[in-house]
Amino acid sequence: MPEQLRISGKDLGAVAMPEFCPRCFWIKRNVPSGLPFQIFPGIFSSIDSYTKHVVHGWFDRHKSAPEWLADLGPLSGYVDPPHHSKFRFLHADTNILLTGSPDGVFVLPDGSYMIVDYKTAKHSGSQDELFPIYETQLNAYAVIGEACGLTPVSKLALIYTEPITDKEVASTDDVNRNDGFLMGFSVKILSVKSDPLIIEPLLAKTRAILDLPSPPRGRTGCKDCEKVDDLAKTIMS
Ligand code: SF4
Repeated sequence: MPEQLRISGKDLGAVAMPEFCPRCFWIKRNVPSGLPFQIFPGIFSSIDSYTKHVVHGWFDRHKSAPEWLADLGPLSGYVDPPHHSKFRFLHADTNILLTGSPDGVFVLPDGSYMIVDYKTAKHSGSQDELFPIYETQLNAYAVIGEACGLTPVSKLALIYTEPITDKEVASTDDVNRNDGFLMGFSVKILSVKSDPLIIEPLLAKTRAILDLPSPPRGRTGCKDCEKVDDLAKTIMS
């Protein structure tokens, strides 16, 4: 049995991207310092977390979902999303531990579960170039959920929260407070097809790449590796 690997649903989503580069993936996982310029602004996860508290707070006070979630269909309640230390599934064939932490888990009237992910971004539907990552992430959560007692998971959805930055809105007194100002968000909902069968081939691909003793060839057409090689040669000469 090969050494156990661990991957989050989101990182597994990178493997599903059309532009996926096995070389980048191998380096990210095997070079202790990782790659440079891999900075993700923390403000987005803060907003996603804030959205979760808005939803849960409304449910707690009103025993129903806020109106802006109406496109999700009827919801009976929510459960606190499990922490990633408890939300995991070991895929026996590849010996890969799939982990994650969903942004939201709603209970539907028939007792099944809907898993959602909040995205602070402009909604562009399936045209969103990151959609393969999100689709994989949600289906990975469904697979983990089914293994961890959230069963059955019958629906998946992305909830896009887009900042309202219109000059007309910003110019009103309503957005001003003594200690700062408010910014609104408009919400768009995108249902994601539940298709847990997409997960296993991605795990197999992950295992095949990460078991290689050295980085595989880079993505066809990407010149950046050549530039790095040229830079290294120049420095060494
Ligand atoms: S080919 Fe491009 S994407 Fe792949 S490792 Fe090199 S720089 Fe990164």
